[in-house]
Amino acid sequence: MVKVIISGALGRMGRKIAQLSFQDPDVEIVGGVENPKFAKEGQTIGQAIGEDINAPIVSDLSQIISNGDVVIDFASDPEAVLEHTKIAADHGKAMVIGTTGLSQEQINRLKEYSKRIPIVFAPNMSIGVNLLFKLVREAVKVLKDKGYDIEVVEMHHRFKKDAPSGTAVKIVDILKEETGIQNVVYGREGVYPEGRPDKEIGVFALRGGDVVGEHTVIFAGLGERIELTHKAGSRDIFAKGAVEGAKWVKGKPAGLYDMQDVLGLK
Ligand code: NAD
Repeated sequence: MVKVIISGALGRMGRKIAQLSFQDPDVEIVGGVENPKFAKEGQTIGQAIGEDINAPIVSDLSQIISNGDVVIDFASDPEAVLEHTKIAADHGKAMVIGTTGLSQEQINRLKEYSKRIPIVFAPNMSIGVNLLFKLVREAVKVLKDKGYDIEVVEMHHRFKKDAPSGTAVKIVDILKEETGIQNVVYGREGVYPEGRPDKEIGVFALRGGDVVGEHTVIFAGLGERIELTHKAGSRDIFAKGAVEGAKWVKGKPAGLYDMQDVLGLK
């Protein structure tokens, strides 16, 4: 049994994670954390999702941290996630972090905390996207230096705050690592007399409607094109990954892990 605290409890992901945790016999929800603006005195996770769960939603994680084993954090504010990680580290609790849009400096601070506690940090917790990461790496190994231009296209709902998506950023990191190409362009506009440079990765972030999340990696050669696409149809896939991550991370040695570790894809 793993006791979880859900941060970003009233958000789209927080509610899904609460629903799936409630249905999982190996998980107990002991509390939630919300932005002080939205955390109402006496509110519970049960009220938020219409189930019988008497777990308080508070604005200060330190009030409830000792009740849990793992904090699942999908708060939309990266700086708040860092504060929560500090509290978890001070109390020897594990973290599962799904929030995206962290700066390199914030990721470095996360790495420091991971010397004290186990942290699963993954921009995308779905099994399909994590397989996509693996397939992209395999494809690049075969296609690099063979004249294939690489472009990444992603689309998300109109409410998404960061662009490109954390998943696209991760895909670009894999592409940079495997190809050695460091020149990444975000959108294109204007005149290109020489056409597209060879050593360039293009990234395009589309936003609109209620699209849960789509990512395509295009390898375009002269005469053929390979496209690897993942389409998320429901947020359940991310929430399920987060709950699996919480069960996996409890009791693990301190360190920074990702979903490839949780899913055994390494
Ligand atoms: P959302 O805006 O619906 O929910 C975010 C919640 O965090 C809100 O309820 C907000 O009030 C709350 N919040 C803000 N500040 C807080 C604080 N200080 N303490 C606690 N809670 C706070 O957003 P969402 O769609 O649920 O996405 C949340 C984050 O998760 C985003 O960064 C998104 O990109 C990311 N995400 C990750 C995955 C993944 O698989 N890793 C999947 C989907 C979304």
